[in-house]
Amino acid sequence: MKELTNKERGRLAVEALKEEYPGAVCSLIYKKPHELLIATRLSAQCTDARVNIVTPALFEKYKTPEEFAAADVADVEELIKSCGLYKTKARDIVLMCRSICDNFGGEVPDTIEKLTSLPGIGRKTANLIMGDVYHQPAVVVDTHCIRITSRLGFHDIRDAVKIEKILRSALDPNESNDFCHRLVLHGRAVCTARSPKCSECCMKDFCKYFENPGIHTGAVPVLLDRDE
Ligand code: SF4
Repeated sequence: MKELTNKERGRLAVEALKEEYPGAVCSLIYKKPHELLIATRLSAQCTDARVNIVTPALFEKYKTPEEFAAADVADVEELIKSCGLYKTKARDIVLMCRSICDNFGGEVPDTIEKLTSLPGIGRKTANLIMGDVYHQPAVVVDTHCIRITSRLGFHDIRDAVKIEKILRSALDPNESNDFCHRLVLHGRAVCTARSPKCSECCMKDFCKYFENPGIHTGAVPVLLDRDE
């Protein structure tokens, strides 16, 4: 196989996934920007399906960042208990909304830097908000993204910040956000952590792992996903 540049690999991967998964929506259900922020915080080490079961009652009780900011953490804990790590998550949600109210006029901020200044929010969530709420070029580096882009041959590292930089250079900025949503779908359905179904994969023709399955086993340990 001819060695591809990352830009060539990016173009091929974007097109293949677009054809395979024409819809590219976030699987977390939300109506308002702060709801996506909270749902994403809840999804750490929990499935999106579980989060979607929990959030309707939560968002019914607390309708605005101001209401979350004024909430008793123990009451939030009760509503999110089944998502796991609920004490930390409840504290972060209330503190995050206090910061939104105190520092950003009650609006979810619109830059990576400001978003990552919120308690409990890292670059992954900040990128998700930038892409899905503000429709800016974004690269959401989660475990699916790390695993699949490594197998495809974009990189052989695990540092999320460096991977984001590599993918930002490789991908069309207009496509990168949807590309990452599609990687999640592909990671759940085909390129699973333990046993990727390579023979039925839409990207096998240019995937380094498919060409040589042993290639990454030493440099990049198999990553387990929170929703597998
Ligand atoms: S060919 Fe296999 S390893 Fe490569 S992206 Fe597809 S499922 Fe994943």
